[in-house]
Amino acid sequence: MYRKLHHKLTLTFTFITGCILIIMSLSYQYLSEKQLKENSYYTFSSEANDFISSLEQQTVLKNEWLAENKPSSKYLLSLYDNGVPLSYNETSLLPSQRKDIKKGLLHFEKGNLLEDTWQQESRSIRSISSYTGDSGTSYHACYFTIPKQKGVLTGILIFDKEILKHQLYTQRIRLFFLNLVGISVLFLFCFYYTKKLLLPIQKTQEKQTAFVAAASHELRTPLAVILSCLSAADSANGTQREAFLSTAKKESTRMSSLLTDMLTLAKADSQGFSIEPTSVELDTLLLDSCEAFESLAKEKNITLTAILPENIIPPCNCDRGRIRQVLSILLSNGITYGTLGGYLKVSLKYSSHGYEIRVMDNGFGIPDEAKEHIFDRFYRVDASRSKKEHFGLGLCIAREIIEAHHGTIQVMDNRGGGTVFCFHLN
Ligand code: ADP
Repeated sequence: MYRKLHHKLTLTFTFITGCILIIMSLSYQYLSEKQLKENSYYTFSSEANDFISSLEQQTVLKNEWLAENKPSSKYLLSLYDNGVPLSYNETSLLPSQRKDIKKGLLHFEKGNLLEDTWQQESRSIRSISSYTGDSGTSYHACYFTIPKQKGVLTGILIFDKEILKHQLYTQRIRLFFLNLVGISVLFLFCFYYTKKLLLPIQKTQEKQTAFVAAASHELRTPLAVILSCLSAADSANGTQREAFLSTAKKESTRMSSLLTDMLTLAKADSQGFSIEPTSVELDTLLLDSCEAFESLAKEKNITLTAILPENIIPPCNCDRGRIRQVLSILLSNGITYGTLGGYLKVSLKYSSHGYEIRVMDNGFGIPDEAKEHIFDRFYRVDASRSKKEHFGLGLCIAREIIEAHHGTIQVMDNRGGGTVFCFHLN
């Protein structure tokens, strides 16, 4: 499902950003082509004008001067002295170009298509126009006549617009490839970005699925026991019936406590863990909690000790009920996974860094490879050792509560064997 969504999002983002890129580059290309076309005409007319003006000042026309002063190598120039072609005229021209130059001359001399003609004081004539030659090539052309002492110097300077077309064509090809590269880069970026975007959602979804699967598994067992007890109770009588009903009741209580834990976690997932901080004397809270577990510890012959600071410590700003819940989880685990005749110590320390509470037992201990998982939902190191009431949700709830207090909780090995749970509050 995520792969499909990932591909869909990548394609959608690439399509949208690609369209924007294409529209922008086409607009740029349109404006740039327009500008180039306009510029080519104005550059041609200005350069042609300058050239003719300096040509007018030459009394003797030399080939070297012409070769040096021709405005641009892109232009073709033909000059005629009293109608006779000058030796300067290019010999390397293609026959089609020669034909087109002749057509240009006719175009102006007939005078029927002059666009921009002006007469100088010296009676020289300059005219600029565009025309299409027989070969189908379009030109900007400047026709001029300059009166000289003996007769008249006629000339035509032309600019092959194909050069401009070629320039535009190259620009378009370049733009096409630039767009292609741009879209490929966008595709890769979108692919990477959407994957990163979906990752937390995917992880949450996976966690939810695992949670639901584990929860269903945990609920199935008590439910099966309840159903079989109830059906057996139907046909039984007397003490046997009572025994079945009592088992069903116990399993219902177990289910109810599991559901409470699950609801707590579900609420923490959807709304975050809600805490109501008040001023709490942690030493008193610790003593109260130990007192509550005293009898349970005695059952297992476990010595339960509270180690409190000698000096009075300032009250802690935390949720009394929730911190007591954390202590209950840790104490209950300490007794469950502690050894007969062992010990369970609860200590409180206060420093400038805050409060540190440790719950230490000399029980089974937790293997290193399991330490990173024990705060996961429904995780049990050894399910066979766990009591029926232990579903693997306690430490997960404890961590949620401590994190809601912006504190930290960690597990360590007890030096003499066993486990130490340590949490900090500010
Ligand atoms: P549970 O309800 O099963 O105790 P927890 O989340 O509280 O679930 O604990 C997860 C697992 O971590 C337990 O099943 C147990 O294997 C291990 N564990 C927790 N506390 C201790 C402890 N004090 N000593 C040894 N193992 C422990």
